[in-house]
Amino acid sequence: MDYLKAITEILLVATVGVAVLVLGPDIQSIYSEKFFNPCQTPISYSIGSIDEDFNVTDEYFLSAIKDAEKVWEDAAGINFFDYSKEGGMKINLVYDYRQDSTVQINDLSSTLEANEANYSKIKSEYDAYVNQYNSSKSELNNLVLRYNQSGKKKSEELLSQIRTLEKTVGDLVVKINELGNQINGLAVKYNMNVENYNDLVGTFDGEFEQGNYVSDYKSKEINIYQYDDREKLVNVLVHEMGHALGLDHAIDPSDIMYALSSEDQSITSEDLNSLIGICSETMWDKLLKKE
Ligand SMILES: [Zn+2]
Repeated sequence: MDYLKAITEILLVATVGVAVLVLGPDIQSIYSEKFFNPCQTPISYSIGSIDEDFNVTDEYFLSAIKDAEKVWEDAAGINFFDYSKEGGMKINLVYDYRQDSTVQINDLSSTLEANEANYSKIKSEYDAYVNQYNSSKSELNNLVLRYNQSGKKKSEELLSQIRTLEKTVGDLVVKINELGNQINGLAVKYNMNVENYNDLVGTFDGEFEQGNYVSDYKSKEINIYQYDDREKLVNVLVHEMGHALGLDHAIDPSDIMYALSSEDQSITSEDLNSLIGICSETMWDKLLKKE
């Protein structure tokens, strides 16, 4: 049986070889796509396009890609990817509603934080004024009581103390009302923001693709649509670069190749075994494999 398999393989190589010579580059591309082995031939990549709404430089994006590349290469000890300015696999940052919502959520949550800080600052000022008001008011009450209880000869000095204290209490009331209004205004704004925030976060309940890998025999592309921060960008890239290596989705949620991304995902032994499986496929296996 092995003998038969060997002969078939030789015949196949010969046939495909002749076809490549005769039919030219298209067949050559189909051939290299079909029999591509990621452990033998590094994938050459380059940056395709970066939508400017992402507000990131080529250098920033490339350094994240190189980090993702290193994650695979360190895990397997194999050089899987090479960056080159003209590299065939294009990696793109594509801006749409996904990143747009992310930016809005980040903006709103910093507004909320600022509001919260502002609110507690004004609230503690308000509380301090109320304390001052309470003590001035009771001091005033005592003075007025003393004044009323004094005999026929009223003290001018006591009266002037009372007038001064009345002024102080009056000023404090104005200040307290002012701050009270500010606090109410902030509370309204704050509630509105909390509502907006919840609305926005609600839109994230449906899962969406953070990126994808698209390939045919003529072109290969990775598109990244959404990430929260650099660490998450690297994770999405690791996942999509895994697809470029030929990996399908894994079943275990802790695998980097699990369909939905989450925290705490990394390249597991399951991910690596699948990759080793792909690298050890014979031409025969590849031909029999269903697309
Ligand atoms: Zn995927």
